[in-house]
Formats: sequence, structure tokens, C-alpha cells
Amino acid sequence: MNDIITIINIAYVVAAALFILGLKLLSHPDTAKKGNFVSSLGMLLAVVVTLLDQQIISYHYILLGFVLGGAFGAWKAKSVQMTDMPQMVSLFNGFGGAASLLLGWATLNGLQGSLLGAQTAGAFVYITLFFTVLVGGITFSGSVIAWGKLSGTMSSKAVVFTGLRELSILHLVAMVVVAYLFVTDPTNPVWLYCAIGLALSFGLWATISIGGADMPVVIALLNSYSGIAASAAGLATGNTILIVTGLLVGASGLILTNIMCKAMNRSLMNVLLSGFSKPVEAAGKIEGEVKILPAQDAFYVLEAAQAVLVIPGYGMAVAQAQHAVRELQSLLEDNGCTVDYAIHPVAGRMPGHMNVLLAEADVPYDQLYEMDDVNPRMENYDVVIVIGANDVVNPAAKEMKGSPIYGMPVIEAYRAKTVFVLKRSANAGFAGVDNPLFFKDNTRMVLGDAKDTINTIIREFGDE
Ligand code: NDP
Repeated sequence: MNDIITIINIAYVVAAALFILGLKLLSHPDTAKKGNFVSSLGMLLAVVVTLLDQQIISYHYILLGFVLGGAFGAWKAKSVQMTDMPQMVSLFNGFGGAASLLLGWATLNGLQGSLLGAQTAGAFVYITLFFTVLVGGITFSGSVIAWGKLSGTMSSKAVVFTGLRELSILHLVAMVVVAYLFVTDPTNPVWLYCAIGLALSFGLWATISIGGADMPVVIALLNSYSGIAASAAGLATGNTILIVTGLLVGASGLILTNIMCKAMNRSLMNVLLSGFSKPVEAAGKIEGEVKILPAQDAFYVLEAAQAVLVIPGYGMAVAQAQHAVRELQSLLEDNGCTVDYAIHPVAGRMPGHMNVLLAEADVPYDQLYEMDDVNPRMENYDVVIVIGANDVVNPAAKEMKGSPIYGMPVIEAYRAKTVFVLKRSANAGFAGVDNPLFFKDNTRMVLGDAKDTINTIIREFGDE
């Protein structure tokens, strides 16, 4: 018996080491695929060992869940469009939260079903069970709302109404009261149902009152919550690997949240409470006029350029223009021009979105620069090509006090000699804020689908 316990514990340590190695490999595009594989291997080991470790009543349901869940996951992962990845990630976070909630519920049922279990379980177990259900429920409903906002199923605008602040305070007080009642009277199922109801509704209010532009931070935070819920479930059920895995997810989610907050120059509290603050009128109005340039004419300027900076955004993902961009890069380089790429941390719809797309098109990683590296030398670029980016190059973040994105660090494309903006119209981006860049003297809008526009320029190079 002791031997089996030792083997199980060693297997858990190996699984945890594989998770950590996987995370390390995931931090670079070249090794990310391997990282995913290594982590999956760790998860398989953890699941198999847990099945041996715990007293499993019936393997039938587990097998059924494994086949159905595995098939659904494989199908989703294969069929999802790159542009829909953030909402899928959000949904997966939600499933993680729901799984923890159900695990907490089932564990409580198990304890109540066994007299000995109910008597021997101390307050610590009930506190962790309550925490599991609460955080799991908040993660689930919050993620569903985040999915709705990102997929366009619901408006991405912050939904605020009179009494939201009071409702939230009431919610928090009710949670503390129910936590006390739950721990002191755990055999009464009413407190469990109250906890589930409070968790689901709190996740809903908390996320619905946050605007779509802050969703990257919310997704990262919900990801962290799903890990914390799993870790609490591990504490309640005495499963070591669940504690470790949950903590890894929780910690990496928090680190990512911190990075995203920095990228948007916001504090986490400011993001979470954005629905409660009074909207401020944006100071200043946009002056100038939009100047349109045909793609054929853009070619002549690019042909004479010595240094070009490409700033990709969400529109590049929509247009699937990354391969065309790579081809244009080669043509420019053959023409004696240097080509750099500037990547904003929240460009696209998920962290690393642009890096993944450009890596797919074989853009060398050492030509990708962070915002802080390119901003100081922006004047050196003859042409900046903004490809389907909008919020991340919006000078309103610097110039218009009171704008919803005021204070967010942006790529200062407007300081380059010439700016080409490749998009279909002069409409606002994800944050719904008009962009003064389109009206600047040195900006030319090259209107149309980004891929079509780039292909037209490529053809012009071919005709020369
Ligand atoms: P934006 O969403 O601000 O703008 C994208 C632009 O792409 C649109 O204005 C659109 O203009 C244009 N576009 C769409 N389709 C095409 C096409 N086929 N061809 C050419 N252009 C196209 O993108 P950014 O990348 O600049 O900023 C990202 C925003 O998303 C930020 O506000 C960020 O906070 C938010 N966000 C980021 C997440 C992340 O983790 N990275 C997650 C969730 C949200 P038009 O319609 O005129 O063509």
C-alpha cells in the first residue's frame, strides 16, 4: 500500500514538473507547440494517476466524459477561426470554473452521504468547499459574459444602471453571511444553493459592467480565477496535483493580468470598477480631414522607402493578411529597404495574437519589436504601414484627456514621416473611440480589405 502511495506521489511530482516545463516552453513562439504537448502529457499522467489514487465507483461515466469532452475539444480546436480564439479561451476558462463548482458540490454531497465523513470534516474543508463553489461560479458566469461580449452575441459596451454599486455591496455582504451559515450548518443544502446563486449573479454583474476594451484584462483575470477555484477544490478533496495545477494557472493568470494592466496603463481596480466611475467628456475634438490614397499610389511611396515599420492589428487577423504581409516584406527587403514590425501587447483579440499570426507566416522573430523599442525611433521610419490596427495606434490615448483610452500606451505611428492606414473605413476600433490618426497631415488611408490592398501593392512590385 505504501509503495502505491509513493508511486502516486512520484507521478504527481513528474506531472507538476511537466506543467512547469510546458509553461516555460510556451513562453516562446518557436517552442510553444512543444510546450503544449509537454503540458498535455503532464495532464494525462495526472488524470490517470488520480483515477488510480481515488476510489472510483464507476469508470463508465468517466470514460463517457473523456470521449465526449475529448471529441468536443478536438473538434473545437480544429474548427475555430483564429479570430475567434479569445472567446473560445474565455469559454474554456468558464468550463474550468464550472468543473470546480460541480466538484465542490459533489464533494459536499459525498460528505453528507457518509455520516463519518460529515462528522470528521472540519471547518477548513467546508471553508475551502464554499470558496471552490463561489470562485467557480463567478468564473463560469463571468466567462460566459466575456464570451458574449467578444463574440458579438451581446453589446461590448459596459452595462451600467442606477443601483449597481449598491447591488454589488449587498452581494458582497450576502456572500459573507452565507459563508458563515454554510460553514456552521453544512448539512443544510439551502446555503449551498444560495452560494451558487450568489456566485453566478456576481460574476454576471461584475463582468457586464466592464467595457469590451477592458476584456483582455478580464479574460486573464478569469483565467486566474479558474486556477484558484481548481486549487481550492484540490484542498477540499485532498488532491495534491489539483492544488499544484490550480496554483500554476492562478499565478500565471495573475502575471498576465498584471502585464495587460501595464500595457493599458491601468490599475486592476480601475478596470474592475470602470463601470462605477462617471464617464468624463473627452477634451478636444478631432480636426483635419481624411486623405484617401489608392493602393497603386501607395506602392510608389513604398518603392522609394528605406525604412518601413509594420503595425498589425485585429484587422490583419480578420483579413488573414499575414502571408501577404510576409511577401511584401520580402519585396521591400529585396528593394533595399529595412522592415520592422511593432507589436502592441493588446493588439488583436488575445495576448500574443499578432505574434502567432506572424510566426505562422514565417516572419523572423527578431524583426518583431515591442512598443517601447520602436516609439523612441519612430521619426526614423519613412513609412509606417498600419494593417487593420486602430485602438493600439490611437493618439487620443495621449492627446484627448477624458477619452476612454486616455493614458493607455500606444504605438506612436503618427510621429513617422508617412503613415498608411490599411482598413475598410475610418470607423472606430474595438474601444469605440474615434481615431485622430486618420486625420493627421502625414496619414493616408488606403481603404479596402487589408489582404486585397497588400496584394495590389505586391502586384505593382511585380509589374516593375
Ligand atoms: P481594433 O479592434 O481597435 O481595430 C481593428 C480594425 O481592423 C477595425 O477598426 C477595422 O476597421 C479593421 N478591420 C477589420 N477587418 C478588416 C479587414 N478585413 N481589412 C482591413 N481592416 C479591417 O484593433 P487593435 O488591434 O488596434 O486593438 C485591439 C483592441 O482589442 C484593443 O481595444 C484591445 O483592448 C481589445 N482587445 C484585445 C484583446 C487582446 O488580448 N489582445 C482581447 C480583447 C479585446 P474597418 O471596419 O474600418 O475595416
